[in-house]
Amino acid sequence: MSVTGLPPYDEGNIFARILRGEIPCKKVHEDSWALAFHDIHPQAPVHVLVIPKGPYVSAADFHASAPAELIAGFWRAVSATAKALGLEEGGYRILANMGADAGQEVPHFHVHIFGGRPLGRMVP
Ligand code: IMP
Repeated sequence: MSVTGLPPYDEGNIFARILRGEIPCKKVHEDSWALAFHDIHPQAPVHVLVIPKGPYVSAADFHASAPAELIAGFWRAVSATAKALGLEEGGYRILANMGADAGQEVPHFHVHIFGGRPLGRMVP
């Protein structure tokens, strides 16, 4: 079990395959810690996913077991991605689904970046 009660990390998940270059993606940013790419089903004019380069199922797993250097590098990559997308002036939303109740589909920790229009107040 992972920290969130999800199954252990599956090396065959779609984001692991994107990281290994087995499946293409529309890349926005890449560095030693993270890869950012456009979501295949965008929910806003800008909808990008940022994933860490490591086998972490969820935010809880990532924060509990990733090295501090990777955690810092990942979150800096989230900001760098938003900047590269030109979202800093207008603002943007970051969101991570964790586990079944949040509807997490892909069991590799990822942060969504939404932007490109006024997003309104967030609702659960
Ligand atoms: P979750 O519900 O937070 O797990 O979000 C998973 C996201 O991954 C969804 O917004 C999907 O549209 C997106 N997604 C699934 N497969 C791919 C892919 O192959 N490329 C890019 N995005 C994907």
